[in-house]
Amino acid sequence: MNDENRPEKQHLIQIPPVFYESISGQPFNKCQVCEKPLLEPSALYVVEKMFRKNPVNNKVEPLFEFAICLDCARDLFNRFSEESKANINKYFMENNRMIDMLSNRQEELHVEDYLGKCAVTGTPVHQLEEYQIYGQFQGNMLKLDMPPYMISAPVMDDVQDLLSDKTIDELDDFTGKYLTGPPEFREFFKSPRRRPVFI
Ligand SMILES: [Zn+2]
Repeated sequence: MNDENRPEKQHLIQIPPVFYESISGQPFNKCQVCEKPLLEPSALYVVEKMFRKNPVNNKVEPLFEFAICLDCARDLFNRFSEESKANINKYFMENNRMIDMLSNRQEELHVEDYLGKCAVTGTPVHQLEEYQIYGQFQGNMLKLDMPPYMISAPVMDDVQDLLSDKTIDELDDFTGKYLTGPPEFREFFKSPRRRPVFI
């Protein structure tokens, strides 16, 4: 095996616990849509988790979380309207500070470097009441060549505003069908401005 094929050269790292399934305290093991096993070495998938600071004790708690294989994520994104897809792509092309951060890096970044600041606004995570993290995975590893990122609530709101009514209906159907978790998760999705978006 030459150097290029070694896992560390492919930028794969062990899944950080922040991306674990909260209830089991373990990595997600199946796609929440098609139930395909995710911890097989060839499985490609994404995990999205949203956190909110509990105003009572100031503790950051997961509000919803989702694991979905790349095939199912692509299917979902393909159901978005052309208008929504174009708007989302444009928004992230224009607003992603992560690109600068990655091209300027002097040394290897750690997962905290990716998740410690909003990828769009640069706001540090400890100043946020609510935020979302996103990562791409292969089997039991996190991929750093498609780096994980964090976005703050104001950016989530911007993204919601980019979605057409058709796309919002698709997402509502989708979350109604597949979202699992405690009842508060479902309550949360009745809020018109919070939906998972796999970008
Ligand atoms: Zn799937």
